[in-house]
Amino acid sequence: MTTGYVFHEHYLWHDTGTSAQMMPPDRFVEPGLHVEAPATKRRLNGLLHVSGLARHLVRIEPEPVTAEDLARVHTRHHIENIQELSKVGGIYAGPQAPIGRGSYEIALLSAGGTWMAMATVLSGRVDNAYALVRPPGHHAEPDSAMGYCLFGNAPVAIRRLQAEGLLGRVAIVDWDVHHGNGTESAFYDDPSVLAISIHQDNLYPIGRGAVADNGSGDGEGFNINIPLPPGSGTGAYEAAFDRVVLPALQAFRPDMIVVTSGFDGAGFDPLGRMMLNSECYRRLARRLAGAAAELCGGRLVMTHEGGYSEGYVPFCGHAVIETLAGVRTEVVDPLTDHIDEWGWQALQPHQDAMIAKAEGLVDRLAARLSARTGR
Ligand SMILES: [Zn+2]
Repeated sequence: MTTGYVFHEHYLWHDTGTSAQMMPPDRFVEPGLHVEAPATKRRLNGLLHVSGLARHLVRIEPEPVTAEDLARVHTRHHIENIQELSKVGGIYAGPQAPIGRGSYEIALLSAGGTWMAMATVLSGRVDNAYALVRPPGHHAEPDSAMGYCLFGNAPVAIRRLQAEGLLGRVAIVDWDVHHGNGTESAFYDDPSVLAISIHQDNLYPIGRGAVADNGSGDGEGFNINIPLPPGSGTGAYEAAFDRVVLPALQAFRPDMIVVTSGFDGAGFDPLGRMMLNSECYRRLARRLAGAAAELCGGRLVMTHEGGYSEGYVPFCGHAVIETLAGVRTEVVDPLTDHIDEWGWQALQPHQDAMIAKAEGLVDRLAARLSARTGR
């Protein structure tokens, strides 16, 4: 496998400020860095180089997308708002969405890194790719920044490639622990994009990501939410993939699979309450790589989203990129056995019940597909 890799120094320069920015002045506790900080990304990039895995990757230089590209997904008002706020920085551009000076340009490069990763895979120069971009994108709504995200990196990239006629049907799998609300909004009535989000139930945003939110209009049936209860481990995630994600991909037969990849489902994440380790992410990545090989010539692109454990995100990301590249380095995750031994890792009855609800969506998707295409 030839695997592309996107990273840019400027991704680390998106300035999310400190907790004092959120509650000024912080009267009680010394302000710390905002949780969406550069360290997790810097350390994942660092590990790729220390392990030697980077030598097996094809470096893809990101190019910024344009305001016109953004406008296929976002309102003009939102784009201009981010552009203006970015000239000053140090404020919030939307709910839980800090913006620094120059963040607009970095956000263009973040969406651009995602776009270049997809474009390079579609060109055939690489088989698959990982875009380690920042700021993240999956919470950004068409008309608002939200949840650390300014623009929807994956939707902007997909819409550009579709507009250029380079891409038809896309399946998105969002394994970030939070619901991919922005991605859902971008494609909710569009049957050309199957959006699947697997997330901790009602964690963020509250009230989004329910099984019943299944798409609308022509897109009815093409939005699949798999909410899981807090405390889910590898058993629940693997069951959700085997019973919902993979059958949905097989029914949809995409031209490319895109993963909005957050590592905040890991056991040490400060924001999520799930129990995954790097080996579980490796197994999930293997399943998706297998589906891509079977369904769409191996075309699989992952673009980075959340994940807030400075010490643990690097091991999860490294295991996933090893899987994409088909390379095993000497890196050993010192914590993976520890997490494996935690109780309740196996599929529990209440988790099984939630997955069973989402399972019905695969039949609905298949029925919608056959109604549309007569297959
Ligand atoms: Zn997240």
